Amino acid sequence: MSLSREQMLVEMGISPLWVLRDKAVAEPAGPDVEENTAAPPVADVRQTVAPTIQAPMPIAAVDGANWPELARQVAECKACGLCQQRKQAVLGVGDLNPDWLFIGEGPGAEEDLKGEPFVGQAGKLLDNMLAALDIARGNKVYIANAVKCRPPGNRTPEASEMAACRPYLERQIALLKPKVIVLLGKAAVHTILHDDKSLSALRGQPFEYAGIPVVVTYHPAYLLRNLPEKAKAWEDLLLARKVLRQQAAPELPL
Ligand code: SF4
Repeated sequence: MSLSREQMLVEMGISPLWVLRDKAVAEPAGPDVEENTAAPPVADVRQTVAPTIQAPMPIAAVDGANWPELARQVAECKACGLCQQRKQAVLGVGDLNPDWLFIGEGPGAEEDLKGEPFVGQAGKLLDNMLAALDIARGNKVYIANAVKCRPPGNRTPEASEMAACRPYLERQIALLKPKVIVLLGKAAVHTILHDDKSLSALRGQPFEYAGIPVVVTYHPAYLLRNLPEKAKAWEDLLLARKVLRQQAAPELPL
């Protein structure tokens, strides 16, 4: 179903109306704080098998890897314990020559099954956020995560797991050369900016990674359970768009 721009803004919470297009979103069981940006917990029968604890291992060098080599290494990676319960590693999806790079936290249950990031309810919201900006996944947009394998029970990835997976994300960024990076939630902020301050303290100002402007905002899964925050997320996306446009016209004010 295609939505008008007004309907997309309604989805973003910029209107007082809030309409869910499909089934109702289940309330999460976890604490209602912005630090808890993961998708709502989903029962995971595979958790009944106790995983072997595995300390993160350094991954093979990916500095010079092209896309096929990077994809192969990620698919075969066993550098941290998240490899043990994944169905598949989820590298990312989208335009390989993007203006925008969105980075989330990690695959959830649906992403683990389908091999694509942001395909659940949070993904639908992200797609509507993109549509409100007149962009779409696969069209000048690439979407990736801080970790490529699903954390069991959709828990937040450990710092050691994010550190183990970071070289893959760094290589993706080097290959993609996006014009702006949008960090969706604390895990992405931790991985790219090495900053553990609250998102409310970090949003509203551009940062930089490897010469690329970076904007911080909330994870769509958090927005689904904190609807009033969607207006702030919209402000953040508008800031990211200004940062992007300023590269072509530096005289534009932020
Ligand atoms: Fe490897 Fe990253 Fe998966 Fe850990 S999360 S096993 S580092 S691909």
